[in-house]
Amino acid sequence: MKQDSILASEITAYLRCPRIIYFRSQSGAEEQKIVDTTYLSHLILKELALTHHHTAASDVGDVIGRLRTELKRITDELLVVYRAVLSDVDHQMVLDAAESIDIDVIGSQIADYIQIIGRDALLMKITPCAVEHAMYSDLLGIAGAPDKLVRIDGSVLPYLTRTGEKPEHGAWKPDRLQITAYAMLVEETFGQPVKYGIIEYARFFELRDVNIKPRDRRVVLELRNRIRMIKDGRMPDRPRDAPCEFCASEEGCTAQRSLASKFF
Ligand code: SF4
Repeated sequence: MKQDSILASEITAYLRCPRIIYFRSQSGAEEQKIVDTTYLSHLILKELALTHHHTAASDVGDVIGRLRTELKRITDELLVVYRAVLSDVDHQMVLDAAESIDIDVIGSQIADYIQIIGRDALLMKITPCAVEHAMYSDLLGIAGAPDKLVRIDGSVLPYLTRTGEKPEHGAWKPDRLQITAYAMLVEETFGQPVKYGIIEYARFFELRDVNIKPRDRRVVLELRNRIRMIKDGRMPDRPRDAPCEFCASEEGCTAQRSLASKFF
């Protein structure tokens, strides 16, 4: 991977706040996370989403029971799987986070998809052919690993799991651009065109197909250039609507004077 490559996930971070990219690149570490029950429920939902193809393969009457079994296993194992980031977390905190996940909503939506598009079509859509498969392209200067790759009608497609709110239609802009970046990586890696990717809004098991448009491809490349400049040491301005109250870099950030160019 070339040194000035960016990660596809940095596009989402950039759109949240460009300074997050700056502080992450200065420290050379992963973005710091505030580890609270919200963050834990995000991890649990991600893990649960990776099991939905097993749940969808079970009898419709067993869907909720299967989800409960998977949720219990995941809460029991979470501190082992994420030991490096959850060293200060106890099991009760994980159980509290799991309380916020509405299994009935997810289960009834899985049953609805089985009714509407059929079990085989649903399984094709959500069964991973690879999980967090790392890809990079020197040509694009982009690297990344989507949550899953799925194979539909012979084509490999990128699949993202999102754990926040869902938009009424389609996908949120950062999600749309991130999946576009993954689609471009899939094209480079597998030598095939990608017409769409899939985003799962996991709290609701809402599946959204996202068409990969030329306009979004252009934006991905433009954002790649801006992110490169920040990683080269150019600190961007603090955006007016930056989500500072949820940011682990707040202390260092407020101490810094902006040297940003007007381009940011
Ligand atoms: S504290 Fe606010 S401005 Fe600074 S990096 Fe975090 S979100 Fe961005």
